[in-house]
Amino acid sequence: MRLLFITSDFPSPDDPTRGVFNLHLVRALLEEHEIRVIAPRTWLEVVNSRRARLNMLSSDLWAQLAGIDVEYPTFYHTPKIFRNAYGLFLWHSVKQSIRRILSSFSPDAVIAYWAHPDGAVATRLAKIIGVPAVVIVGGSDVLLLTKNRRRRAQIQKVLQDAHAVVAVSRDLKNKTMDLGIDEAKVHVWHQGVDERLFFPGSRAEARGRIGIPLTGRKLLWVGRMVPVKGLDVLVQSYAGLRDRGDFHLYLAGDGPLRKRLESDVSAQGLSDSITFTGPISHEHLADWYRAVDATVMASYSEGIPNVLRESIACGTPFVATHVGGIPELANGQLDRLVRPGDSTALAEAINRLFAQGSRADSLPKQPSWKEAARSFVRIVQPLVSKAQDLDHPWWIVGNSSLGAPRRADRNVWLQFARKALVTFLPLHIIAQGPAMSRSVYLTFDDGPHPKHTSHLLDVLKAYNVKATFFVIGRLAEKYPELVRRIQEEGHMVGNHSFYHPNPNSVPASFLLNGIDRTDRLLAEMVGNKDFFYRPPYGKLTTWKLLRLMLAKRKIVLWNVDAKDYACQSAEELLDWFQKRPLASGDVILLHDRLPYASTVIPHLAGVAKEQGLRFTTIDQYFS
Ligand SMILES: [Zn+2]
Repeated sequence: MRLLFITSDFPSPDDPTRGVFNLHLVRALLEEHEIRVIAPRTWLEVVNSRRARLNMLSSDLWAQLAGIDVEYPTFYHTPKIFRNAYGLFLWHSVKQSIRRILSSFSPDAVIAYWAHPDGAVATRLAKIIGVPAVVIVGGSDVLLLTKNRRRRAQIQKVLQDAHAVVAVSRDLKNKTMDLGIDEAKVHVWHQGVDERLFFPGSRAEARGRIGIPLTGRKLLWVGRMVPVKGLDVLVQSYAGLRDRGDFHLYLAGDGPLRKRLESDVSAQGLSDSITFTGPISHEHLADWYRAVDATVMASYSEGIPNVLRESIACGTPFVATHVGGIPELANGQLDRLVRPGDSTALAEAINRLFAQGSRADSLPKQPSWKEAARSFVRIVQPLVSKAQDLDHPWWIVGNSSLGAPRRADRNVWLQFARKALVTFLPLHIIAQGPAMSRSVYLTFDDGPHPKHTSHLLDVLKAYNVKATFFVIGRLAEKYPELVRRIQEEGHMVGNHSFYHPNPNSVPASFLLNGIDRTDRLLAEMVGNKDFFYRPPYGKLTTWKLLRLMLAKRKIVLWNVDAKDYACQSAEELLDWFQKRPLASGDVILLHDRLPYASTVIPHLAGVAKEQGLRFTTIDQYFS
């Protein structure tokens, strides 16, 4: 599969440890699939990193990113306000990256990690290009962000629009369903653990390697220093530990709260026993888990924390708050769970864990990333196969009329402008040929289709009928031999966009890019240039029409729509043509993605002969 992955949770120059789990997923998927990543960085990060000269990537990260195609567009947004418009801000911030990627890559599905705003961009894009959108919900996006009423509505919309929602724990699946999302499309999926790094080992050796004292009891906290992690509660609970002198707490990570916590710790005189290690690279983290007696976590909210899963994989028990998917990880014998926000209970749980002593020999096994990627593919693949079913393609919306025009098109001035364009530039847009020409133009849209197009070509050849085929770029890419055959047998190849988007709902630049990409593709296949364009559904807004005309694009519409897409049988279509005589200059719309067109050709060929008409390709009109 070809996947486009959109997430702000991805290692970047400013924060090489952020979203490492997504990097692991991408790398594991890359073994069998093609992936492009868009990882937006907020403009605040970009500004700060310039100031801090953080642009140097660690060599570790470079090695990890090797072979992965990542774009880091800057996410422009209003800090703290208008959060429910973040989906729109992010869309405009990443639009250019999307365009660049789409100019040479056709995703089979769009994946997002995080419901909003990342998921909003993914579902919007997926709709435009007619592929499934899969949104992975990570925790706070469903648990916390939904507490704001308006943001909740945005998140619900994203999850409703997504074709699959992937929850990283059972708990999160339940919470997602509480938002009114259909259970059938919410999947529980467990992220992997990097088994090359995280496995049990000697505690003493690990302490030696990282250079911390060999004796004494040690606790480890790992994460991003943000309020939801409850670090203040953790520091408070430290005061309640028995034999405090014997405990050492390591806080690994970075984040906006770090400075304040550091000063709190030193104000309480705890600097000797609480150490801020700063961010620790993944490679070294495994030794830290092995080196400590327990991992602690005091979060108010979590999905299913990787930190605990990695700790388990290294054979180290944990003490954590009873939130999110954490209970799904806990081994009743070893791991302790407490209420969030309760520093006394947390201290007691740590004391109890140490009183019990000894560490785990048989902690539950965690899936490797390879296994996790495979189970992820098992969620996405059926959707992709369904979307690519050529007999029920997702990129065709029912029939060619898309309902009421947009408000802009009902505007009288715009209608006037449109009329003026069409009147003054008549050579650029045609819907009907001249009545004097004695020609009839058959046009077939939405192919090439491996079965129906080739059968239709056989029939056209047998009756010596020439026609014009407006092909969809993504299908031409898949069936180039059919495109070449169309040309070789004397028909004309036209451009029917790359993704067949609804031209009313797609930005003009996307539309033009798709047309250009299809042009390039067709030029490679059949040699010539200047392909005529037929807009999907025959729809164009005034602005898009103007842009196309400025690009000197010749646009072909139709005056006869036999509505074969609404037919249930070939007879129905034949019946329609039997009632309607052919007229000189007719441009007839049919579809070679459907089986019916080929059955009416013998009838049409007969009628044309009787009336002294001939079938020609649309370029004859211009010559
Ligand atoms: Zn079409």
